[in-house]
Amino acid sequence: MDPAGQMCKHFPVMETALIDSFSRRIEYLRVSVTDRCELRCSYCIPKGFTGFEEPGHWLTFDEIERVVRAFTQLGVRRVRLTGGEPLSRGKLPDLAARLVHLAGLHDLSISTNGTRLRRLALPLRRAGVARLNVSLDSLNPERFAEITGGGRLDQVLDGLMAAKEAGFEPVKINMVAMKGVNDGEIGDMVDFCIRHDFTLRLIETMPMGATGRDATERYLNLQEVKRALQSRYELIPTMMAGGGPARYVRVGGTNLRIGFITPISQHFCATCNRVRLAVDGTIYTCLGQEHKLELRPLLRSGVSDEELKKAICRAVLLKPERHEFTTQPEKIVRFMSATGG
Ligand code: SAM
Repeated sequence: MDPAGQMCKHFPVMETALIDSFSRRIEYLRVSVTDRCELRCSYCIPKGFTGFEEPGHWLTFDEIERVVRAFTQLGVRRVRLTGGEPLSRGKLPDLAARLVHLAGLHDLSISTNGTRLRRLALPLRRAGVARLNVSLDSLNPERFAEITGGGRLDQVLDGLMAAKEAGFEPVKINMVAMKGVNDGEIGDMVDFCIRHDFTLRLIETMPMGATGRDATERYLNLQEVKRALQSRYELIPTMMAGGGPARYVRVGGTNLRIGFITPISQHFCATCNRVRLAVDGTIYTCLGQEHKLELRPLLRSGVSDEELKKAICRAVLLKPERHEFTTQPEKIVRFMSATGG
């Protein structure tokens, strides 16, 4: 019997654990519901790119629900919907409402660029989505447009207010910090987040695809940023529920928490607990490696639920020990939105 078969066989449903070859327990799944996005962030989708997945290859909501159910039966407890821009997929609140009812799922969250939140924040909240991460790299309208390839800052700010009104708590701001681009704005972003009670997460650029590699020319080591912030604020180490790989501090005298996501300066592969499901049904086991397993052919050839779970176990066993972003930055040709960031 193959190792994946054994792993699935010896654990009764609901007591299963997805353990990879390096003894890491996989309990977090990121689900990309589209690889498309109307923004063209300088470090993500290249300008003029047209090679998106055909709609016929997108997993349907039935297929996504089936795969997520299989993952939850294997011990996954947290799911994040992402993309591309997940809110551009029609009827997303319907999918969210289906997923929150899956037994074993404790937390459903979404990463979004925020442009459609004014219309969708309340329906998503009502569907049971617990938490939102919103990308925001600049508070300056011109710079925001430049970084995002034409995005409108006012739309995203309005979307953030809609998320607050809808009761999302916390709302986390994801800021990719880039030297010479927006590093001068980190202090403003801290003040903005204190004012609005948002959580701030600073992210180092990763060399994913040609755009990601170009962006690493503007790579900013967040250890330096942390030291600079320490000279201005008291930073108290803290934990945050659903914090994932971010290392959090609280800013003394405020409620603000700042997370540092440092895949390059201080990688966190040893505690990586996640895999990703791309819109075409491919399971990617690492952002910075090619190890993957395609589920769509299985799903569309009438695979049984047990076979599907065995395939997921096999995929998890493919998960490599770590990324090689620093030693082999040329390695990953797919950009972030193709995997599901
Ligand atoms: N559209 C949604 C959003 O804006 O959050 C979800 C998808 S987006 C690909 C998810 C996150 O990946 C965003 O916070 C984005 O800034 C980040 N990202 C994309 N490419 C990146 C790169 N090369 N390095 C670091 N972060 C990247």
